[in-house]
Amino acid sequence: AALPAGRPAPPAALHLFGDPAEVEALRGRLLAWYDQSKRDLPWRALAVTELDANRRAYAVWVSEIMLQQTQVATVIDYYNRWMQKWPTLQALAEASLEEVNELWAGLGYYSRGKRLQEAARKVVSELAGQMPRTAEELQKLLPGVGRYTAGAIASISYGQATGVVDGNVIRVLCRLRCIGADPSSPPVIDRLWAMANALVDRSRPGDFNQALMELGATVCTPKAPLCGECPVKQHCRARLRKLLGKLPPVPDVEDCGVGDCPLCPPAAEPWDSSLGVTNFPRKAAKKQPRVEQTATCVLERKGCRGALEYLIVQRPSSGLLAGLWEFPSVPLAPGLQQEQQREVLRDHLQAWTGLPVAAGSLRFMGEVVHVFSHIHQTYVVYSLPLDGDVTLDLASSPSRWVTEEEFRASAVSTAMKKV
Ligand code: SF4
Repeated sequence: AALPAGRPAPPAALHLFGDPAEVEALRGRLLAWYDQSKRDLPWRALAVTELDANRRAYAVWVSEIMLQQTQVATVIDYYNRWMQKWPTLQALAEASLEEVNELWAGLGYYSRGKRLQEAARKVVSELAGQMPRTAEELQKLLPGVGRYTAGAIASISYGQATGVVDGNVIRVLCRLRCIGADPSSPPVIDRLWAMANALVDRSRPGDFNQALMELGATVCTPKAPLCGECPVKQHCRARLRKLLGKLPPVPDVEDCGVGDCPLCPPAAEPWDSSLGVTNFPRKAAKKQPRVEQTATCVLERKGCRGALEYLIVQRPSSGLLAGLWEFPSVPLAPGLQQEQQREVLRDHLQAWTGLPVAAGSLRFMGEVVHVFSHIHQTYVVYSLPLDGDVTLDLASSPSRWVTEEEFRASAVSTAMKKV
């Protein structure tokens, strides 16, 4: 029968979990595997042992924000220090941004720490210290909490039967159901969310979601999935496709692979047998990072205690690396020669210290490359030893002299540590 106008066709059976018995079996296998092989992680322990729902939600929330774009192994140490320092929302709400930045230093994507703290303040001042109790409310009321984080907090700490979709889940679902359409496109993402919500185990939603993500992180990995050890291999249609050399025989399969199925690979990029299951998911086109150059000057002086001291200044409170400290720096226009770069830096330092600086006294030290999420940044590093003190224009930006040890304990980015 013809479909009503404007309504998209339902997805073909190849891409669906249409059989309730199969869904039950998949949940059971995945959870049994998780119970046996899950990694011991501090936030998992807290989510089980903490009796207070607000504290549980807070503990999961902090872990989820830290884990965004960051490896588990890197996060553990930061997480433990954070929870020791601020075990509750109330404690975090009372912290200063400077303290948050100091603890976050080196973890990257610094606005995460700042937003977490702002949201904690909001919960304390506007919600009487009570964390919202559903995924919908968490997403609506907490700044910095998107659909994924809200689903993770609600399923793991409250047991709400709601699914989650992150990079790991996308990969696993696309392979289980041969989804080769661009997973960053809104209709495909909507399908994946619908699938995750339908699949999530009703009695152990938090464990199920973590199991699906853990499977993606440890077994169904991007380049070399360990299909032989996979607990849900019986349910995987990408694997079947690889073994059979053709699409698996499920009803309606003729709907797929002919170019007009919205979930199949595009006709121009058909199945490549040399890739096997890694045909799925389809790689999203990567945006090229912006290329930028910055001149940075390490000003040094002999401090009163005899040790060398370095001058650091604070970045503005918004934008990239907001509120962090750095060596005085100035962005460079593209294509400048080294002499011109020196002059730009000299003018910057002169305006700011009020001292005459001879461009020739700036010693070139080398270049440091640091790749931020979307910027390929090269720091052209100079040093300038000073005798005596300089009076700084305090109105322009906060600054201080620090020893090397103090520098390492300050809220400075990984890029500046490299410098
Ligand atoms: Fe991933 Fe292989 Fe398991 Fe399929 S069988 S879900 S491709 S690890």
